[in-house]
Amino acid sequence: MALTLAAVKKRAKKIRCVFLDIDGVMTDCKLYLAADGSELKAVNVKDGLGIKLLMKAGIEVAVISGRPSEAMQKRLEYLGLKHIYLNTEDKLPAYEAIQKKLGIKDEHCAHMGDDTPDIPLFTRVGLAIAVNDAHPKALAKAHWKTRNIGGNGAIREAADMILAAQGKG
Ligand SMILES: [Mg+2]
Repeated sequence: MALTLAAVKKRAKKIRCVFLDIDGVMTDCKLYLAADGSELKAVNVKDGLGIKLLMKAGIEVAVISGRPSEAMQKRLEYLGLKHIYLNTEDKLPAYEAIQKKLGIKDEHCAHMGDDTPDIPLFTRVGLAIAVNDAHPKALAKAHWKTRNIGGNGAIREAADMILAAQGKG
């Protein structure tokens, strides 16, 4: 369902909240497992800046992820995110709760994802963005695919595109 760049930009103009997945979008999907049971993952500082630029431009950023992570919670709070739903496997109820809170419709929402749990949101939002290395089933439902892979600047790339479409780039 990939759209032309002009059609993507038309949709991007209306975006007031960007929803992000964590594993595979904010990270490269890898977990480093330590003997004590703890997990490490890496985030990209460029993506962090992309999130901040969106919020500075008045666009809300929300995170909905199936996995719990204390370290990620701290990172997201550090970035200033107000809508953080971790350990939330069913993404739609969280999506709808945030929509209600912000008083926005599907056309005002973008979602960035990388795999099949993102499809329920992809089929609802005005702008469905898949990272370059997303699962083919998720890619098939996306309106736009980033050049970058997850955890490697894909969020910054999407933020730049949305801000440019809104004349805020
Ligand atoms: Mg994911």
